[in-house]
Amino acid sequence: MLTNLKDQPADKILALMAAYREDPRDNKIDLGVGVYKDATGKTPVMRAVKAAEKKIWEEQDSKSYTGLAGDPAYGDAMVDLVLGSAVARGNVAAVATPGGTGAIRQGLELIKMAAPGATVWLSAPTWPNHPSIVKYLGMPMAEYRYLNDDTPTVNFDGMMEDLQGAKAGDVVLLHGCCHNPTGANLTLAQWAEVIALLQERELTPFVDIAYQGFGDGLEDDAAAVRMVASEVPECIIAASCSKNFGIYRERTGILMAISQDDALQGRAQANLAFLNRQNYSFPPDHGARIVATILNDADLKADWMAELEEIRQGMLGLREALAAELKRLSNSDRFEFLAQHRGMFSRLGATPEQVEKLRADHGIYMVGDSRLNIAGLNAQTIPVLAKAIIDCGI
Ligand code: PMP
Repeated sequence: MLTNLKDQPADKILALMAAYREDPRDNKIDLGVGVYKDATGKTPVMRAVKAAEKKIWEEQDSKSYTGLAGDPAYGDAMVDLVLGSAVARGNVAAVATPGGTGAIRQGLELIKMAAPGATVWLSAPTWPNHPSIVKYLGMPMAEYRYLNDDTPTVNFDGMMEDLQGAKAGDVVLLHGCCHNPTGANLTLAQWAEVIALLQERELTPFVDIAYQGFGDGLEDDAAAVRMVASEVPECIIAASCSKNFGIYRERTGILMAISQDDALQGRAQANLAFLNRQNYSFPPDHGARIVATILNDADLKADWMAELEEIRQGMLGLREALAAELKRLSNSDRFEFLAQHRGMFSRLGATPEQVEKLRADHGIYMVGDSRLNIAGLNAQTIPVLAKAIIDCGI
């Protein structure tokens, strides 16, 4: 039986990580994998996470199963964090999932059950897991333009024009903030236009929010998803705690299905629980418990918010410093987008050959589409990267 299996292509980012590890140069720079790193190159455990784990270790007296939706305290805390008061809690069905990826997978499965013929529209480009999961589930898929490659800013006219081609009942996957891989984001005015189009063409938004707190702040980063949830009749939201709580390996995410028709909440909730049951029964609890412990304790929450804000400000500082250094070296404003973009990533707009040259000649590793992880930089490596970018003719 196993001989029938096809070879799977290597994951490009994991292959890049391996190549980086094997590179003997001491001045090599890793801007590849999408995890936050501090100035010393470490991905720290956040203070509040450590404190919450200690508290859980001291107080937890059972590791029996939770419910199929996970711990209700986690669900409530996350609905509050993501949605604030945008929609009544009674209209939100929510289940804990293994990471944001698990939420996306379950969200797509829910769509497949409810609207089997719906085409899922993805931004071009998007996080590669999106098309990969949609394809694996055998769902119809289409792309909408998202980026002007030359600048690289949002190609809003292209996006709107392409979404005009969607049929009623289709699903549009949108990044709630900090678009991955481009770093280019819609303004709130543009979100309002997208929402109007969704309503006019009867399209269902599926918002993926994996970086709340990494862009303009916890509240500002949630503004778009809240606007969507309060204005459209129905929407699906997948949120991840991997980045903003720094608990990548704990696999902590949440899937929400929102309907303005409160009679539907119970049915949506039962279907989400059903999907959890089919896939893994109970969702992982440890990360969810850490998050709930932090969000339900005023001191821990304040400390978490303070550390998250330091992380965000640090990344903004790196963006500004890199843009300024490139302005100095190139004598132009063509890299100003780096300071305007938000989140952990930006796409430089380099060719695959230039990306390869950065790696071969300078030991600088980034994803082949020229996505760079801003958090992989520090004060010492910014001038090195800027000089290499200019040397490679980018
Ligand atoms: N969505 C996007 C756009 C992402 O970049 C990520 C993380 N790379 C996720 C979802 C989910 O991440 P995780 O499964 O690790 O929570």
